[in-house]
Amino acid sequence: MTRTLITGGAGFIGSHLAEALLARGHHVTIIDDLSTGSLANVQHLIGHERFRFAIETIGNEMVLDRLVSECDVIFHLAAAVGVQLIIQKPVHTIETNIMGTEAVLKAALRYRARVLVASTSEVYGKSERVPYSEANDVVLGPTVRNRWAYAASKMVDEFLALAYQREHGLPVVIFRLFNTVGPRQTGQYGMVIPRFVQQALASQPLTVYGDGTQTRCFCNVVDSVRAIADLAESDEAVGQVFNVGSTEEVTILDLARRTLALVHGQDDAWRDQVTLVPYAEAYAAGFEDMLRRVPDVSKIHQAIGWQPTISLDETLRQVITYYRLQNPSSQNGRLISRQ
Ligand code: UDP
Repeated sequence: MTRTLITGGAGFIGSHLAEALLARGHHVTIIDDLSTGSLANVQHLIGHERFRFAIETIGNEMVLDRLVSECDVIFHLAAAVGVQLIIQKPVHTIETNIMGTEAVLKAALRYRARVLVASTSEVYGKSERVPYSEANDVVLGPTVRNRWAYAASKMVDEFLALAYQREHGLPVVIFRLFNTVGPRQTGQYGMVIPRFVQQALASQPLTVYGDGTQTRCFCNVVDSVRAIADLAESDEAVGQVFNVGSTEEVTILDLARRTLALVHGQDDAWRDQVTLVPYAEAYAAGFEDMLRRVPDVSKIHQAIGWQPTISLDETLRQVITYYRLQNPSSQNGRLISRQ
């Protein structure tokens, strides 16, 4: 039984990780300032005898120090997330990501806790060399374009964590999450699947940015947190960087059509209910999207035997069910009459 701390534990991924760790019999403490996380995400865990929750920022050194002193493994997930937030609040993004990680690593070193640091597929930037493997070069755009500030801040996090490992022998593991989806993810920060599902349930056309030929691979959060929890148990993983993602590639236009089909059935009237939104309208000027993003997951497979198991359609069904339960009034009439 391990004493674990999750920074950003009330977020979408953190809350699923908390569940997975509790199910493995561990003690779980989370620290979250509820900036993008929410109490609702962990409400069902409150009262569990092995679960504790500190509503606090990781910028509070005293609180962080105490919580770290009481744990063996830290999962550092607290970060500014989502493309939209990064574009709207660049100072907040850079400061939160870099200073937060620095604070966590410093505290971890005092108590020699193992640290799993969350990074992102964004660090590969706009490299066209897919699939992305951990040793690949990264290709970022110019500093005048905000999007790359997020990637750069996460790269600094990775450099810093690896430096703590090399210079001080701190056991760190870095995982690069590719598009992760599932129940509890909010569309508020731009993420495409919750946005599409909510639009479809509200009988609105789906907003596809650009021409919709860009692709992504969406990994179910349950698969992702299993990878993270397994990495924490592997001594071989220490000092290493791992991709965590699905290899099921889909164009955004196809994703929209699959979402429409799952919500509206084979109703012809809905098959192509998408609105193509030019990037210039969807994001601030100067935004660059990447055309393809596919992980190479052979490294993590070799290290811990992990591979994703849940299909995109199954994940879409889970997200649709989640939003139906959240907001029963958003169910469209046709669908209810079909069931
Ligand atoms: N996207 C879209 N419509 C939306 C939101 C996003 O077409 O309402 C596109 C976005 O331009 C990108 C993809 O969906 O090509 C994934 O976007 P998301 O923000 O979920 O993740 P990203 O991979 O960009 O970090």
